Amino acid sequence: MKAKINVTKTFLPSQEEYQSILKRAWDTGWMTNRGVLVKELELKLKEFLGVSNIIAMTNGTLPIQIAIKGLGLKGEIITTPFTYVATTAAIVWESCTPVFVDIHPTYLTIDETKIEAAITSETSAILATHVYGNPCHVEEIDRIARKYDLKVIYDAAHCFGVKYKGESIFNYGDVSTCSFHATKLFHTGEGGALFCKSEYYDQFFQHHNFGHEGPEAFYGLGINAKMSELQAAMGLVVLPYMSEIMDRRKRVINLYQECLGGSNIDMFHIRDKAIWNYAYFPVMFESVKKLLEVKQTLEINNIYPRRYFFPTMDTLPYLRQSSCYIARDVSRRILCLPLHDKLTESDILRITSLIV
Ligand SMILES: *Cc1c(COP(=O)(O)O)cnc(C)c1O
Repeated sequence: MKAKINVTKTFLPSQEEYQSILKRAWDTGWMTNRGVLVKELELKLKEFLGVSNIIAMTNGTLPIQIAIKGLGLKGEIITTPFTYVATTAAIVWESCTPVFVDIHPTYLTIDETKIEAAITSETSAILATHVYGNPCHVEEIDRIARKYDLKVIYDAAHCFGVKYKGESIFNYGDVSTCSFHATKLFHTGEGGALFCKSEYYDQFFQHHNFGHEGPEAFYGLGINAKMSELQAAMGLVVLPYMSEIMDRRKRVINLYQECLGGSNIDMFHIRDKAIWNYAYFPVMFESVKKLLEVKQTLEINNIYPRRYFFPTMDTLPYLRQSSCYIARDVSRRILCLPLHDKLTESDILRITSLIV
């Protein structure tokens, strides 16, 4: 049996590289509470991504919760059913009600033309996901938000390095969040970040550190979402490899597309004027039956794709059911094929020959 191929493989630098950065934390004896490594990682990320405000956090879910809490959102939040459960759960955890709007059949992001119909007097915000790193229709969402006085949060967990119209996708909306989980494109083991307009920065910063104003006073309510020095050290070693990693993944995807060309398999469309990051390689089959056959064939061959994202969030057992038929249909037929920087040409030929 050939070596197991998973849907992704965490990029790991050499242990020596990691240890050489960790040594700086050891030397200070300072493991968290925004030590030198977290501060340095934030600076380097600002530069690499082209953003002005960033708060490194301990995962990619807490920034969503902090954004909802910090913006004072109440009542209903319009969102996408085609995302990871963290998006929806964050809304519910913060005592708001998700209102699902169906997705666009080829971009797979929230269908902006259906948002206005879902707005009620209870609506306080739009929380949309740039799924697979594909930007939502940010201009139209911005227009709607201004018209109805709504806040906009983007779950940009998949968007490390994505640009839209020449600037970081994290610069759109009131707040964007990213995940640096080990399965994501850029990682710190567990980790994440919040990006926001300058007017919100101080408040979000306090929220992520228990609401502290110095050691003996408090501005307000907070939680602990701080990134540790151990996480930041991983980020600092991984970051210099990111351009190379994205390059390699681009080559993998190009080869996949060549090998799958002429088959009945569809890919989603990247939005015009977006520079994508090659974070995932989702393919759509003509039916769920075909998807399950392919998945089984691959698994027998020790290859493990993943059904990102299945099921859709509008079917969660703890929510009132709504009916996003396009999302449900796509979600049943879409499969993320293995994608990482170490995937070889022969791996891809083997995988695709089992599919077509
Ligand atoms: C991974 C992910 C998250 C959560 O990030 P964590 O770092 O695992 O907390 C949120 N939203 C989406 C769309 C994700 O894929």
